[in-house]
Amino acid sequence: MPALAHRRVLLKLSGEALMGDEDYGIDPKVLVRLANEVKDAHDAGAEVALVIGGGNIFRGAGLAAGGMDRTTGDHMGMLATVINALAMQDALEKVGLSARVMSAIKINAVCEDYIRRRAVRHLEKGRITVFAAGTGNPFFTTDSGAALRAIEIEADLLLKATKVDGIYDRDPKKFPDAVRYERLTYDDVIARNLQVMDTAAFALARDSKLPMRVFDMDEPGALLRILHGEAIGTLVA
Ligand code: UDP
Repeated sequence: MPALAHRRVLLKLSGEALMGDEDYGIDPKVLVRLANEVKDAHDAGAEVALVIGGGNIFRGAGLAAGGMDRTTGDHMGMLATVINALAMQDALEKVGLSARVMSAIKINAVCEDYIRRRAVRHLEKGRITVFAAGTGNPFFTTDSGAALRAIEIEADLLLKATKVDGIYDRDPKKFPDAVRYERLTYDDVIARNLQVMDTAAFALARDSKLPMRVFDMDEPGALLRILHGEAIGTLVA
């Protein structure tokens, strides 16, 4: 088996990535596909941690726009990420992996609390850890949760799965002549005002020199190819 270029990675999936063609919620077929991609990465020898968003169910900002108290909305958003994480844990186990959901807010009747040393131990034992509830604080996003946890567990790489295959100079869905960047520095992203992650997440990743690769998870095998060192998508480092 060829050596992996990245041994421990944290993969950030948006909640919307679980919806498939639905308008809301979770498509079980998508979950199984994603779980199989993670299985291939695990079987190749990688330690894989996941952070999943909650935007397929609730986002605090959206609820606040409808009149709800923002903090309550964010609490609901964080609980939505726990729902997604539990669904992913189930799918991971169905494909034969061992998985643990660890939540930043205590809900220990349904999953473990996030404890860094325990998370690292799970990873070392080959368990997939699914970090739920983002940072545990309102006014943050799961992108911040992903950057934070990636730094804490000393991941080699943060992988951000998006609907397009990297970072472009303009929205490629609107501008067919948009150009994809292969590699950017953190300063490039700021100078060019590229929307990669929210500012808090981005600042955290930059300050800790956490390399990040943005790629399209809908492309079968992309995750494994990245682990083997292929330059798919866009690297920010
Ligand atoms: N959230 C929060 N604090 C966090 C992470 C998430 O309050 O540290 C809430 C926030 O309301 C957010 C929602 O959970 O909108 C779902 O997360 P996110 O929007 O990041 O999900 P994604 O867009 O990745 O699906």
